[in-house]
Amino acid sequence: MKFGGTSVGSAERILQMIEIVKGAAARESVVVVVSAMSGITNLLEEACKKAAVQDENFRTVVEAISRRHDECIGALGLSPQISSRLIVHIREPLVRLGEICKGLFLVGDLTPKTKAHIMGYGELLSSRIVNAAMEEAGIQPTWIDSRQVIITNHDYESAQVDLNRTYHRIQEIVDREKGVHIVPGYIARSETGENTTLGRGGSDYTASLFAAALEAHRLEIWTDVNGMLSADPRLVSDTITIPKMSYEEAMELSYFGAKVIYPPTIQPAMARHIPIVIKNSFEPSHEGTIISEETQPDQYFVKGLTSIQHVSLFTVTGPGMIGVSGLADQLFHALREEKVSVLFITQSSSEHTICFAVHKADSPRVQMALEATWPVDSRDSRLTLVHVEENMGLIAVVGDGMRERSGIAGKIFSLLGENGINIRAIAQGSTERNVSFIINQFHVAKALNVLHEGFFLSSHKTIHLFILGAGNVGATLLNQIREAQVHFLKAGSLQIKVSGIANSKMMLLDQEGIDLRHWETRLKSEGQAIDLKVLLDRIRTFNLRNSILIDVTASEEVSNLYPALLASNVHIVTANKIAASSPYPHYAELKHLSAKHNVRFLNETNVGAGLPVIKTIRDLVLTGDHIHRIQAVLSGSLNYVFDRIGSEGILFSQAVREAREKGYTEPNPSLDLSGKDVMRKILILAREAGLKLEMDDIQNKPFLPAETLQAEDWDGLYENLKAMDPQMESERLRLSSEKKRWRYMASLIDGKVSTGLEEIDETHPAYHLKDTDNIILIWTDRYQKRPMVIAGAGAGPEVTASGVLADVISIANV
Ligand code: ADP
Ligand code: ASP
Ligand code: MG
Repeated sequence: MKFGGTSVGSAERILQMIEIVKGAAARESVVVVVSAMSGITNLLEEACKKAAVQDENFRTVVEAISRRHDECIGALGLSPQISSRLIVHIREPLVRLGEICKGLFLVGDLTPKTKAHIMGYGELLSSRIVNAAMEEAGIQPTWIDSRQVIITNHDYESAQVDLNRTYHRIQEIVDREKGVHIVPGYIARSETGENTTLGRGGSDYTASLFAAALEAHRLEIWTDVNGMLSADPRLVSDTITIPKMSYEEAMELSYFGAKVIYPPTIQPAMARHIPIVIKNSFEPSHEGTIISEETQPDQYFVKGLTSIQHVSLFTVTGPGMIGVSGLADQLFHALREEKVSVLFITQSSSEHTICFAVHKADSPRVQMALEATWPVDSRDSRLTLVHVEENMGLIAVVGDGMRERSGIAGKIFSLLGENGINIRAIAQGSTERNVSFIINQFHVAKALNVLHEGFFLSSHKTIHLFILGAGNVGATLLNQIREAQVHFLKAGSLQIKVSGIANSKMMLLDQEGIDLRHWETRLKSEGQAIDLKVLLDRIRTFNLRNSILIDVTASEEVSNLYPALLASNVHIVTANKIAASSPYPHYAELKHLSAKHNVRFLNETNVGAGLPVIKTIRDLVLTGDHIHRIQAVLSGSLNYVFDRIGSEGILFSQAVREAREKGYTEPNPSLDLSGKDVMRKILILAREAGLKLEMDDIQNKPFLPAETLQAEDWDGLYENLKAMDPQMESERLRLSSEKKRWRYMASLIDGKVSTGLEEIDETHPAYHLKDTDNIILIWTDRYQKRPMVIAGAGAGPEVTASGVLADVISIANV
């Protein structure tokens, strides 16, 4: 049974661990291998590195190490006898540690040998403490010095074990009849008697060596998570425990970065068919993971995902590569000489290029090795180019069930592609157990989450929303999203996270998601002053999968962010009409960027609020139809005004006021009254119909004098409108006597677009339009005799918000 750093990290943890060991020892003999208390090995490294560069602070670090152990011993409440025996074992190494560090400080140098010696102190100390605590608990354990039994070569910090001699010694020294042995992990000794270590994380390996030598029934690795998880829990949320896996799968996962088990651990246990069980000392009743010959290929094709961050990708290219097998030999020989471990290799079929990845820390040595093998001035014809890309990440998708199953690689690449993650190099072994690939470091967490969702939670997708504008429409939208969150969560199909909310003054960003029950108070109390540049930056650095920016503002600054957002793979859903009605080249650029970066730009609510106008025209055009003519009432607010005037004696200015109060108008009603809003809408429809038009191409006949609309603010505008009331009222009386009505119409006829107030009689389909309703009549090749008609409420927070939400859901594609 091996207990990791957190499992022996405090007195409380040690007592818990003893309970676990007691349970097992009641049934059979146990060898307990312990790591250093959590964090201690790092502190030891810090202390010796500091001392060696003559940094006085090494003393504080040494003190911190002493204190951690003293506190733990104090809290164990040991009897005086046991305690005094223990103190001898603790004091001596701690004093020595301080002296060696002082020595390093004086000499200003640190050799691998001394470093390995110091780094091993953590296990010596923790194993002594555990030994004493066991005695206190009434168990009579035997403490074994692993340095007496594990024999290695002289690679001090990550030494190779001489298996034969080691197994032999373990068998000699461990009395199998005896109940409990305590063994410090990680540390070993060379043939010539110098202290060595088995490499960081090496206590797992110590335990596996003991298990193999003693032909144990099983090897238990006790750690702080529920077994081997489907991905690194520090990078992916909602991971699941993998109940069973094969040795090969475990080897691939650990080799490619699953820290929960140290890669060399698998081999000794596997050679003797010993099952490895990974368990959680914080939750001993959890089954954890069993690693053995068996796997469960049917449940999930993919078992787990792992990553190695900070790798460097080398590409060696040149005509000299073709057919010269010796070149690859030379390359790998050179890397071996430098003791560089190659994480990943691919060779293109033309043999023109070899591509390999190494840990970033090894990169300088690789460059040296390449230079030594092929000096730059001799490269010319044989090897034209060596190219290195730093800051890359390696991801591996692992599972025995992937063998002979088609479509896995396809799924991996399309999931990544949808999220704008470019793959730099790919490798798949012929065992098909592992597909690994290299991407930019920046995208590692995002890629893992996207893949995890795709393979393990396929019914459950997460989208991240950033909502700009928390006014009428925005607040309504947030309410609708809250209801949708509950609904989709119940259905188990979609998780909607709102990761940002901003109004014109404040912004609040939280990549974990903002609880929509309290967004207003949180925005007020935690929000920071709005700064669109900062906002854009944060959205980019969050780099969350399926990010959608929702613009329910009427702001030009906000719409100016779109190009940068699209280029960063953020989808856009907008009710703001400014971008789609901006100069044509800009509009075309947005379409181009959305295609290039594989993200959507959706603006259904730009016209007719929630009515399906834009998507209908898009579908007609996509299916090969041609739009001949559009006639439409596109302003909900103006229609409301013209429907209201006259009823209950309401005057023009009052009708506008009402429309504004009900949230039917633009924040600035002049935009509606001038016809500008309608012009934008028909322009957007004309562009969807395939016309490259500009605002200037539209003929607009305004019904109010320009001066009326030139007001500083709403109060000024209202005064001006009141002044128009007598004239409007007399016109209205004339109209009513002629049995006609006013409608502000937009039309597109044979490529020409016009807008203006028209007087229509009851034969016109728009005559009976009520309230804020819109009507859109579309004549096409296929709708020649009678137009296609889309009608219904065309303004208002509820319908606009629901149109926005519909666009969002269509991106989620559930
Ligand atoms: P110990 O000190 O017990 O040896 P480690 O820190 O070495 O523990 O390993 C356990 C940690 O490994 C977990 O806390 C987890 O953060 C990390 N980890 C990374 N990938 C995985 C994975 N696929 N499954 C489980 N844990 C993982
Ligand atoms: N204490 C050592 C380390 O931190 C070994 C281990 O925990 O397995 O690397
Ligand atoms: Mg470990």
